[in-house]
Amino acid sequence: MSSAVRVTDLRKSFGTLQVLRGVSLDARMGEVISIIGASGSGKSTLLRCIPLLEVPDSGEIAIGDETLRMRPRRGGGQEPADRHQVNRMRSELGFVFQSFNLWAHMTVLQNVIEAPVHVQKRPRAEATAEAEALLERVGLADKRHSYPAHLSGGQQQRAAIARALAMRPQALLFDEPTSALDPELVGEVLRVIRSLAEEGRTMLIVTHEMGFAADVSTRAIFLHGGLIEEQGPPAQVFRDPQTDRCRQFVTRHLNRGQ
Ligand code: ADP
Ligand code: MG
Repeated sequence: MSSAVRVTDLRKSFGTLQVLRGVSLDARMGEVISIIGASGSGKSTLLRCIPLLEVPDSGEIAIGDETLRMRPRRGGGQEPADRHQVNRMRSELGFVFQSFNLWAHMTVLQNVIEAPVHVQKRPRAEATAEAEALLERVGLADKRHSYPAHLSGGQQQRAAIARALAMRPQALLFDEPTSALDPELVGEVLRVIRSLAEEGRTMLIVTHEMGFAADVSTRAIFLHGGLIEEQGPPAQVFRDPQTDRCRQFVTRHLNRGQ
């Protein structure tokens, strides 16, 4: 099957701190890859490099069959060669962060149609109809005219997922989508993500929800110190890790009841 998201030998430092030290991964269409690892292991940086929210020092990024063109930057490192290409490739990705990042001055529906109408230039009526279907799907049809401040964290995160889907992305990237939620709201968000996995969406999910990750992913990646320390089918990585570090990490998290 063809690649949806591919990164090759990604490296990224902040000052003298080497955060990614050569990470490669290839998410095929329909794959759900969970990315686990201790705090500071580089999970968010890896995810943020894909839509170029962080510019890697070296390495290659491809979305579908399009490879991002980079050029050397004066003073070292590299930069995107073509801003239009960055925007085009970015619009192929849906991003859901830990904090919900909805626009506070817009209703839920306005949040969802904003990018389809203003970035993708789709007709407002079409974008609205699609947004309403997506809100229905995430269980928020009755909240479409509410402002984010009047929603629970779980509802806001479900709205953020609908907003990401509205761009019709090739792949969805989740960075700890439930970490900021009260425990009783985690399940409703995981259920939506699970339903996306079941319909064959390509997803990269950074999460500490080990049970969930073990269930929904087709592959799991354990990052340690900016490198992939272990990867494999979830049955291996979560239940029978091959490396000591991965075993310790997984055991510690399972024991916490996560
Ligand atoms: P994780 O998501 O696995 O917890 P991160 O990718 O967020 O890890 O961070 C990895 C390391 O990089 C951490 O030590 C963090 O402090 C550092 N870091 C992340 N982003 C920046 C930044 N913009 N500037 C400086 N240091 C950063
Ligand atoms: Mg992080």
